[in-house]
Amino acid sequence: MKVTEHIKQAKGNTLFSFEIVPPQKGQNIQELYNNIDPLMEFNPPFIDVTTSREEYVYIDKDGLFDRKITRMRPGTVGICASLKYKYNVDAIPHVLCGGFTKEETEYVLVDCHYLGLDNVMALRGDAMKHEKYFTPTKDGNNYAVELVKQIKNLNKGKYLHEIIETPYNANFCIGVAGYPEKHMESPSLDTDLRYLKEKVDAGSDYVVTQMFFDNKKYFDFVEKARAIGITVPIIPGIKPIAVKRHLQILPQVFKLDLPEELILEIEKCKNNSQVRAVGVEWAIKQSKELITRGVPVVHFYSMGKSDNIKAIAKEIF
Ligand code: FAD
Repeated sequence: MKVTEHIKQAKGNTLFSFEIVPPQKGQNIQELYNNIDPLMEFNPPFIDVTTSREEYVYIDKDGLFDRKITRMRPGTVGICASLKYKYNVDAIPHVLCGGFTKEETEYVLVDCHYLGLDNVMALRGDAMKHEKYFTPTKDGNNYAVELVKQIKNLNKGKYLHEIIETPYNANFCIGVAGYPEKHMESPSLDTDLRYLKEKVDAGSDYVVTQMFFDNKKYFDFVEKARAIGITVPIIPGIKPIAVKRHLQILPQVFKLDLPEELILEIEKCKNNSQVRAVGVEWAIKQSKELITRGVPVVHFYSMGKSDNIKAIAKEIF
């Protein structure tokens, strides 16, 4: 079922959902299930599965290093199919511009359609690890808006090289990313919102936000989005802080601010289990306020570990 239908069916009640990251290749898929199992009692209507960018690896060939490109965490679509059929939940693959030609994207989407996946999240993708900025892939989509258009076309039977008139078209519900503290490359929040509006006008059905730690940022963002005519659901993304190093890593990677009160609480912690407890408490406080304000879904970034998400969900769902 589509995310938008889940929201409609919930009749104003806030839903619980989360995002997972595929395991590194060669790892046991059971570990992933072991982390998902404890969260299923909170009835997530959907689970997002990320797609990682490809990266360079260096292979020693008799002292000479050969540079090869590979994806360390493949399997997004396969994992989605397994979640859908194992847990009877809607699983949402993240589909990227970066690293895929439009042709390859079409094949990914066709796979998703055959597997009965009703939703896809359309993203530009991060820059590759060695890159400072995102470089578009040759013959690929440059921005998420182009990917949204490709998916919308496929929904109408317009493939890259032909129009296929059939009653069996895909009908994907499309999610896109939004940034309450603006995307790191954007010159201003207003500019970023203008491009978000383009994605929505091109046919995206809902927005999921980047993590934020100060709810005011989200409320202001939603207000600004509504003011420029973005009417689709805007789902807040929440990440519980888990280790002290997050104080540096999160602002560095995602270009976001942490509230002083949270920083002070974390600085007082003597070890990471205390940090984890502070992170859980903060996320509970954030979630409770978001729910009071009537958000459709609270979406959690699990980053492969579920004990803290479970502790939060137990308090609020
Ligand atoms: P876009 O919407 O294309 O925007 C990128 C930048 O370009 C922004 O600064 C925007 O303002 C600007 N822009 C947009 N359109 C135009 C235009 N037409 N002309 C000029 N400028 C424009 N990354 C992954 O690699 N894998 C994942 O699975 C993944 N999942 C994510 C899930 C969520 C909920 C979020 C919030 C992010 C996720 N990301 C993921 C990160 C995301 O790929 C990066 O933040 C990426 O840098 C931007 O992606 P986007 O889809 O927002 O890009």
